[in-house]
Amino acid sequence: MTLLAVRNLVKRYGKAPTAAVDGISFDVGAGETLALVGESGCGKSTTARLAMRLLEPSSGQVLFDDQDITKLGGAALRRVRRRMQMVFQDPFASLNPRMTVQAIVAEPLIVHGIGTSATRRDRVASLLDLVGLSAAQAGRYPHEFSGGQRQRIGIARALAVEPALVVCDEPVSALDVSIQAQVVNLLQDLQARLGLSYLFIAHDLAVVRQMADRVAVMYRGRIVEIGPRDAVYGNPRHPYTRALLAAIPRPDPTHVTARAAVTETPETGQGCRYAPRCPYVIDRCRLEDPVLTTQETTEVACHRAAELPAIDAVAEAALPPAAAQRLALYAARAGAR
Ligand code: ADP
Repeated sequence: MTLLAVRNLVKRYGKAPTAAVDGISFDVGAGETLALVGESGCGKSTTARLAMRLLEPSSGQVLFDDQDITKLGGAALRRVRRRMQMVFQDPFASLNPRMTVQAIVAEPLIVHGIGTSATRRDRVASLLDLVGLSAAQAGRYPHEFSGGQRQRIGIARALAVEPALVVCDEPVSALDVSIQAQVVNLLQDLQARLGLSYLFIAHDLAVVRQMADRVAVMYRGRIVEIGPRDAVYGNPRHPYTRALLAAIPRPDPTHVTARAAVTETPETGQGCRYAPRCPYVIDRCRLEDPVLTTQETTEVACHRAAELPAIDAVAEAALPPAAAQRLALYAARAGAR
C-alpha cells in the first residue's frame, strides 16, 4: 500500500536557471524505507521539505494517503501533518536549548491538542524509554546529553504524535561513526515495532545500504535511477550510480580536464545532464534527455543503460574505506543484538 506518492514534483528557487527539483516522482509504501542519495546540492533536502510541505512546490503533487497535500489548508493540513514527522541532521540545532526534554518531546502533543499534562508526562516517559533513554532524564536540558542521545530525543519528539511517515534528513551524518550505528539500529528497531515508513535522505552509501528497501539516486534535481536496494547496489545501471558506488574506476584525470571544458559549454536545455561527466557518453546523450525506463527491477534514465556491461556485485573493497568500516561495524552490532 502506497503511503506517500510524489508526482512530477518541481521546485524552483527564485530566479535560478535550473530547478532544484526538476520533475521527480516516487512512492513510499507503508512500512517501507525509500532512500534518496546523491551528492550535495542534487535536491535531496528540497525533496524532503516538499514532501512535508515545509516548502511549496512550483508544480506537481504530493499525495499522502491519496490526498494531494499541496492543496490542503487549515484543519485538513494539520490532520495530515500529524501523520508525517521529520528527524533532522543536526540534533544540536533542532532542539531548543532552553526547553527541557519533557517540554521538547511533549510540544508536538500540545500543538495537536493531544492529552492532558498528566497523560503527556506518561507519554513522554514511554517515548524516552522507546528510544533508549530514561524517564528520569525528562527534566534535563539538551546540553546535558551527548550527540547520539540528542538525536534520540529528536526521534522521540518525532514519534510523539504517532506518525506513519518519518522523513529523516541525514539523521546520522553529524554523529560519530560508532554512534551512527546505534542510531541506525534504533531507527530500524522502531520501524519494525511501529510499522513506520521512512523517506531517508543520506549521502553515506553504507548507511543507505543498511536502511533502505529501495533507493532513488538523484542527480541535479532528477532521479536517474530508482529500484530495490540490492539491485541498485548489486547491479547499478546508471553511470552516475556506478561512479557513486565507485564500482568502476573513475575516468583518469586527463579525461576529467577534457570534460571540464564540456561542462562550460552553455546549457542548451537539451540532452542528459550527466553527459558532461559521463565516461559512456555518445552523441545522442547530448541531444536527447533520457527518461526513466524499466531495466529489469530498476528504472534508469540513461540511453545506454541496456548496453553497459553488468556489474554483478559491488565489491566491499570498492567502497570508500570509511564506508566499508562502517558496514563492518553495523554487521557486528546487528549480530551482537
Ligand atoms: P541536497 O539536500 O541534495 O544537498 P538541496 O535540496 O539542499 O540539495 O539543494 C538543491 C539545490 O537548490 C542546490 O543548488 C541549492 O543551492 C539550491 N537551494 C537549496 N535551498 C535553497 C534556497 N532556500 N534558496 C535558493 N536555493 C536553494
